[in-house]
Amino acid sequence: MLWPSDRTIDVLLAGGVTTAIPSLKRLLAEGDSAWVQAFAAARRIVEMWPVGSSRHSYTFAAAPPVPADRLTMFAILTELNCSELLEAFIREVVVVDYDGSENGALIRAAGILSETQAAALFSALIGARMPKYPNACAELLRALPANPPPSFLAVADAAVEGLDGIETPKPENAWEPFGRGRPTGLGPEFIDNLISGLQHFEDGTRCAVAAGKIASRPDVFLPVTVVVPAIERLVAGQSYGMPAVHRAVGALWTTAAEFLLKRSELPPRPPADWRLDVQVSCHCEDCTELQAFASSPTEVVHRFRVRKERRSHLHQIIDRHGLDMTHVTERVGSPQTLVCTKDRRTFNARVQEYRSEVASMRALLQLTKHSASNAALSKRLEAAVQASAR
Ligand SMILES: [Zn+2]
Repeated sequence: MLWPSDRTIDVLLAGGVTTAIPSLKRLLAEGDSAWVQAFAAARRIVEMWPVGSSRHSYTFAAAPPVPADRLTMFAILTELNCSELLEAFIREVVVVDYDGSENGALIRAAGILSETQAAALFSALIGARMPKYPNACAELLRALPANPPPSFLAVADAAVEGLDGIETPKPENAWEPFGRGRPTGLGPEFIDNLISGLQHFEDGTRCAVAAGKIASRPDVFLPVTVVVPAIERLVAGQSYGMPAVHRAVGALWTTAAEFLLKRSELPPRPPADWRLDVQVSCHCEDCTELQAFASSPTEVVHRFRVRKERRSHLHQIIDRHGLDMTHVTERVGSPQTLVCTKDRRTFNARVQEYRSEVASMRALLQLTKHSASNAALSKRLEAAVQASAR
């Protein structure tokens, strides 16, 4: 097949951006003689790059670009050393599809972009992607130069504001409707990177604001698995010498201690009897019997000898209400028997939680000297840890 050489890219683009990239690479390899062509080809590829939802309606024969293709394109544009194309690619593609794999490329790109361009792009990116990729965004913030230019304050502000958009992390195995923006992982490194990154800006007041936002949402920033380990990391880290980080750690320590004491200052008390606190929603004959069993303080095992449909109705009701009991079909006789046995799963789960909360209190006690002036809280933590050993 023959086509005029400057149309090559458009012909290849008909097969999708991924088929056009190798030809752009060849042009680049040819050096100065092909620079104008390479530049024009790169511009067309950036223009045609499918992003976000348009990717799903991708009608070309070729496969839509994957994250690795974004990195390849990033490398090519960095090699072309053209701030205008890089800016367009980051604004139109990366801000929308960022998944954290681009951090290194973004930092390299900052060397080519103007300060104002970089500040605008990075704040747009962090603002848009923080809710879904908090860890990666905080990592990016921390990777910025230690003496950021004043225009980069917008990036720090986007990160602090982005904290409000982070939702409760997705429970394991939970099915989520397509496109929900829950964070993919939210670990202690998030707070470590965020606070260590923010302290580079101005007088570090943003550290205090961020610490306050984190402390006020323990359902999102879980004290046991995220905040307390983050305090440990911050205290061991290099930026801890900075007063702003020091103050943020003090604030996080106090609110984590208060939260843990509120929940676990005293050990959970085992239930006094076998009564289950539940109102069964169905009032059919079987459910009435189930309700009586559930409400009984002494009956631990109950047998329902009923037909299959009625057994499976009871299953459903037990599962829907999350009753503290197992239900097993005894496959003997006709009809067979559904054997319900109460257990203490709610209490046992609470005991597990209590143990991990006591472990966190112990960790906080190890860090007491970093807690500013919280002798009273430390004393209560100590008493709580002692109470758990009894
Ligand atoms: Zn029923």
